[in-house]
Order: sequence, then structure tokens, then C-alpha cells
Amino acid sequence: MSPNPGADPTYPAAVARAVTQVVVHCSATPSGQWLKGCAPVTIDSWHAARSFRRQVAARRAFNPDLGSIGYHFVIDLDGRVWTGRHVDEVGAHAAGHNLQSIGICLVGGAEREARYTAEQWDALATLVRRLLPLVKPGAGVVGHRDLSPDANGNRVVEPAEWLKTCPGFEVAHWLARGMKPLPYHVQAMPVAA
Ligand SMILES: [Zn+2]
Repeated sequence: MSPNPGADPTYPAAVARAVTQVVVHCSATPSGQWLKGCAPVTIDSWHAARSFRRQVAARRAFNPDLGSIGYHFVIDLDGRVWTGRHVDEVGAHAAGHNLQSIGICLVGGAEREARYTAEQWDALATLVRRLLPLVKPGAGVVGHRDLSPDANGNRVVEPAEWLKTCPGFEVAHWLARGMKPLPYHVQAMPVAA
């Protein structure tokens, strides 16, 4: 185990894979609750339990201590950005959309109306702003729930059609507000774990 799994390098310089979507997730733990242990290692253990497995070569090349994690980035409560899979490695975070997407997981957010710390919101905006110039022009940013099937075929994925509520906020509105969250989606920094 390296001393700082998942920590480096935080921001990629380039993305070679044809990425057309950045997908935002929550960790499905209560808003504002620290994960037990180092966030990417904890999430890696959850994904290992679900039998997610990274390719051996990919693992050898990047974050070898994380054998399963499906996300490319994890944003901790204090705004720290951890890496999971390499951006050029296909993730395991959004069924049917993994080939062409990058997955970002915000720690917390299990509620239908999630709350994240100001540090998390800032880190998400910074990360998305850094990634978008590296991926396909016109690439979209969506929440996991927005990828739910359009069950009634009206071309809008409505709340009743969400398979899950992840990430607990409307990504389109956040983008339209210049990547600023609505106040009720912001919560104070909890005391250290
Ligand atoms: Zn999700």
C-alpha cells in the first residue's frame, strides 16, 4: 500500500479517450459524513465487494492500490480531489455510459436533496472546468440520475423515472448558474473524522 493511494496526479494534462460526458455522482452516504478511512480506498472496497475489477495493465500504470474503484475522481468533504481510475481507462459508474464518460463522485449526498460543503462545490467546479477543454468539444456534464431511461418516451428524464437520485441536485441548473449551487445544497464543513 502506497502512503497516499489515489492522490496523484490529481488533474490530467490530456484525455486520449473519446469522452463525451462527465457524469457526477454521490457516494450514497449521508451528506456531510466523512467516509471511514481514506475516501478512495473506502470506495474501492465497496466496488470490490460488487466485483468491479480494473484491468491489470491499467492498474499497474495508475493507482495500483485501487483494484476496483469505478470512478475517475472522488471529491472529499474538505474539497480534496482524489483520483481513482485513470481518465483514459473506462470507468464503472454509469451502466451503458461508461465507454464515453468520466465519473466524478462527491462524498455524501445520499438524500434526494443532497448537501455538499462549499469546498466540495468549489472543487467540483474547478475539476469540471479543467476536464472540459480536454474532452470532446460539446461534451456534456450530467448527473447520474439524468441517465435513467426515459420510460415514457417524452425525451425528458423526469423525477418519476429516476432509477436513483444520485447526485441529489440538478446538474443542468448548477451549470446554468455558472457552477454555483443553490443555498440549500450547501452545508457547513463537519468536524474532522
Ligand atoms: Zn451515481
